[in-house]
Amino acid sequence: MNLPANRLVVVGTGVAGLVTALSAAPRPVLLVGGSPPGSGGCTALAQGGIAAAMAFDDSAADHARDTLAAGAHHNDHDAVHYLVGDAGRAVRWLQAQGVVFDRDGDGLQLGREGGHGCSRIVHAGGDASGQALLQALADAARRAPHITWRAPAWLDAIRLCDGRVSGVALIEARTPPQELECAELVLATGGCGALFAATTNPASADGNGLALALACGARLRDAEFVQFHPTAMDVEQEGALPLITEALRGAGARLVDDQGRAVMDGHHAMGDLAPRDHVARRVWECQQTGTRVWLDATPLKGDWAQRFPTVLALCGRHGIDPRHQRIPVTPAAHFHMGGIAVGLDGSSDVPGLYAVGEVACNGVHGANRLASNSLLEGVVFGRRLGRRLADIRLHAPVHGHPRWVDRGQAADMPALRELRRLAGSALGPVRQRARMRDALDHLAVHPGLGHTWQGKLVVRFLQAALQRRKSLGAHFCVDDAG
Ligand SMILES: Cc1cc2nc3c(=O)[nH]c(=O)nc-3n(C[C@H](O)[C@H](O)[C@H](O)COP(=O)(O)OP(=O)(O)OC[C@H]3O[C@@H](n4cnc5c(N)ncnc54)[C@H](O)[C@@H]3O)c2cc1C
Repeated sequence: MNLPANRLVVVGTGVAGLVTALSAAPRPVLLVGGSPPGSGGCTALAQGGIAAAMAFDDSAADHARDTLAAGAHHNDHDAVHYLVGDAGRAVRWLQAQGVVFDRDGDGLQLGREGGHGCSRIVHAGGDASGQALLQALADAARRAPHITWRAPAWLDAIRLCDGRVSGVALIEARTPPQELECAELVLATGGCGALFAATTNPASADGNGLALALACGARLRDAEFVQFHPTAMDVEQEGALPLITEALRGAGARLVDDQGRAVMDGHHAMGDLAPRDHVARRVWECQQTGTRVWLDATPLKGDWAQRFPTVLALCGRHGIDPRHQRIPVTPAAHFHMGGIAVGLDGSSDVPGLYAVGEVACNGVHGANRLASNSLLEGVVFGRRLGRRLADIRLHAPVHGHPRWVDRGQAADMPALRELRRLAGSALGPVRQRARMRDALDHLAVHPGLGHTWQGKLVVRFLQAALQRRKSLGAHFCVDDAG
């Protein structure tokens, strides 16, 4: 079969997909997004901002040191050095795309978050950084003559020809599925937090990109490393729990128990600003003894409406005024350090298949992501991948028998609820080998769970966690602690 089109398709319109598409100019790009332009995905929800060593007394070397410490030195060193070395350029590139970061006098205002040795988080619209970024990038993409949008549209299947990507099947509302030729496909489909009962992620972050890549024969890397954010709001609701940004603790808020005692005292040298895995485990431990944990932000001074408008609005929706009341918090699945194994240029093991952003794993986050390094990852590695794809000019004709691959059977809603509960209890912030084995056994004898693509992903995560013999970073197993 000959390929008439050298089409480049980018799937996902969060930070990673948008930056990749913009950076591939002047090569034509078909940009496919599951949600309308400028909305959806985790990017829209990001609060804190983007880590970059911009202060006069900060350096890329210090940013690298903090990234490696948070990642338990499981990180790919080349990826880390590329990330931190390009961070300043990434921020300036974003400004050129129209992102307006909050300023402090002559310079950018810098916030502080857990695991960072100093203030280095640039933000926009106070704690509405992700939305500001997404709007500016979506506007830039709409103006870009080389980009054609297809949204809302859904990537349903991938065609392989002799093991190489050669086409995609897209689903759009009210039209029959459409098959398109394609020479390069970029998956920028985001994370998989929605596979867990308690999560900060929206429903679109369900790992469907991982499932498609696996079906194509791609490898997963570091699948067991799931970051739990320690301060999701502890409220009864199905779907994403509201996130209470770490920037509040950076500004002086404290985690306390029912009696008002600081729960991180004596547990980590960095106290409330310890890396997320430590804080999440501590909150989880308190909960196991029946103690509810609260974030006390009442001592914070300043203009809440300007600095933390998102938190103020989220709390307000649940009848809490954080200026005067403590906020109940719980750990929740937040970020997947693992993903489709890719090189620094985003290429996977499957010719023509690339991945970038949270769905990908080039090892940059190691065993635990440093706060505010993931928007940065999307920008830095999206730019690198886009430039690489722009340079591909010659496409050898593809011969051979085409084959369509899809995710397979999807779980229905009751099965999905049970899978989420199972993943939440077996793969949470504190794991036990027996519980993980029980979960695997349960999935093996319940095909309605274990044979679905979501179930198969949970099996992969469980197998990866059981294979790791020592606790590391976000993977903490009581049997192998220390
Ligand atoms: C509440 C919250 C706060 C956060 N705060 C920060 C922060 O302050 N700083 C930071 O660095 N990180 C933060 N993160 C993490 C960060 O937001 C994400 O890691 C990052 O935005 C991921 O970007 P992405 O482009 O890879 O994926 P997303 O932004 O999730 O985008 C994925 C896109 O792919 C689309 N999609 C998925 N599957 C398909 C399909 N089959 N077909 C078509 N489209 C598809 C989705 O609709 C979505 O638009 C936060 C995350 C959350 C949940």
